[in-house]
Order: sequence, then structure tokens, then C-alpha cells
Amino acid sequence: MGILAGKNGLIVGVANERSAAWGIAKAAHQHGANLAFSYQMDAFKKRLEPLAGEVGSDILLPCDLAEDGAADRLIAALGQHWNRLDFVVHAVGFSDKAELKGPYFNTSRANFEQTLLISAFSLTELTRAAVPMMTGGGAVLTLSYLGGVRTTPNYNVMGVAKAALEASVRYLAVDLGGRNIRVNTLSAGPMKTLAGAAISGARHVFRHSEEQAPLGRNPDIDEVGKAAVYLVSDLSSGVTGETHYADGGYHHIGVPNEG
Ligand code: NAD
Repeated sequence: MGILAGKNGLIVGVANERSAAWGIAKAAHQHGANLAFSYQMDAFKKRLEPLAGEVGSDILLPCDLAEDGAADRLIAALGQHWNRLDFVVHAVGFSDKAELKGPYFNTSRANFEQTLLISAFSLTELTRAAVPMMTGGGAVLTLSYLGGVRTTPNYNVMGVAKAALEASVRYLAVDLGGRNIRVNTLSAGPMKTLAGAAISGARHVFRHSEEQAPLGRNPDIDEVGKAAVYLVSDLSSGVTGETHYADGGYHHIGVPNEG
């Protein structure tokens, strides 16, 4: 029996086996959770099918969060399989790659809108849709990055979206605390994923972070998965509205030690 035994969890954001959401799915499965997945588009479904099979899931549902009403349709479809949902993982981000380089002030109105909609507001939509199924309380978890609270090269409008995402988590935590639904952010260090590679100069950020982090490395998706198990399980029953870092301690460093 694991700490997530008997818990039903929806995982949004597995694109492939390098996705942070996949690390979370594996860890949640190891701890006994039943899992359902959504995929953004058909091309991702093919990659997701064998992965979902590895963790004993055959619930794969389409959901493009750029579409109006997509979160409601996803939860309605999930309701055909389960009558209760215990946790939701939102590991979603998108911005035009062309604007993840150079100065932030070149951000276009159109890309500001789509980045904030998909990378920040979709958490609120997904949570609102999921709440009626979370009848026994539960946990919502999203993924953020340090670029939401400090500047990092080329992160630009994604940093602004992460700031909005982290603020959304605090507001949602207040809205939902009375239903015993906790809402938290996991702020991960740089990982080599599809989304990570879209940011210009990602290699420099990756190397700098691993050199400066107290643990001397960036997290892998399995470490992110273990931290996520804490945040979606009763181990963190007293924790909500929190931004929890899984970055090898990097965010604590002001001036790095010499040598
Ligand atoms: P990834 O590319 O594997 O995952 C991103 C996911 O977002 C994909 O599954 C994609 O389908 C989904 N997505 C994008 N647009 C969508 C839409 N319109 N509708 C539904 N889904 C959509 O990359 P990842 O690094 O695992 O990203 C997951 C989360 O982790 C993101 O929020 C990202 O910002 C965050 N994060 C990543 C890093 C990193 O260095 N890679 C660090 C900290 C936080």
C-alpha cells in the first residue's frame, strides 16, 4: 500500500518520456495512485499510449487548453471513468519560441495573450472544472520556474506568466481551502524537455544552475516526481498556496562561493 493508494489523479502535460509530468506520473504510480492522462493533440497521443500503459492507465483524453471549454469537456469525459478525483497535476506551458529570445520588451500583444492564457489561466479553468469531482478534498499542483520571481535570460513573457501562475495558486488556495482542496506550485530547476529547449540559450542556464546549485546538479524528472508525491498526498496535508522549489537549492544563492 502506497501513500497514494486508492487516490485518483489526472495528469495534464505529458508530451513524451522527458516531460516533467511523466516523472510525476511514474512517482505517483509507484505510490499507488490510479492515473488518467490528457494529451494536447493526436500526435502526442501515440507517444502517450505506451507510457500510460507502463503505469497501468488506459484513460487518455484529448484536451487543448487553448480552446474555450476544453477543461470542462476534459472533466466531463473523465467523469465517464471515475466518480471522484483526488488530485490534478497541471504541467503546461506555451509561448512563441521566437519571443523566447532577446529583450522582453519586444513581446507582442498576441503572444502575451496566448502565453498567459495557456501557461497561467488554464490552471484556473482546469481547477474550476475539476472541483465538482473533488468531493473528498484533494490537491492541485502546477509547475513553475524561478523566472517567475527573478529574471533569467530569454525567459521573457514566460516569466511574467509564471508570476501570474504563482499568484493564481495563492488565490485558488484561499478559494478552495474550505473544501480541503490544496493548491500548490512546484518550482523546478532547469530540465531538458521539449518546453525547456524552446528557450534560447537554455544550455547556458542549465549549466550555470547546475554549477551554482548547492547540490551541484539540476533536478531530474524523477526528483520532481518525488516532490510532487509529497505535494499531492496527505504528507503535505497542512500545506497550501505554497511555491515549493525542487532546484537543488539554486534559488537560495545570492553571491556564489569563490572557486
Ligand atoms: P514538456 O514540453 O514535456 O511539457 C509541456 C506540456 O505542455 C506538453 O505536454 C504540452 O502538450 C503541454 N501544452 C502546451 N500547450 C498546451 C495546450 N494548449 N493545451 C494542453 N497542453 C498544452 O515540457 P516540461 O518542461 O515538462 O513542461 C511542463 C511544465 O514544467 C511547464 O509548465 C514548464 O514551464 C514547467 N517547467 C519546466 C522546466 C524545464 O526546465 N523544462 C523548469 C521548471 C518548470
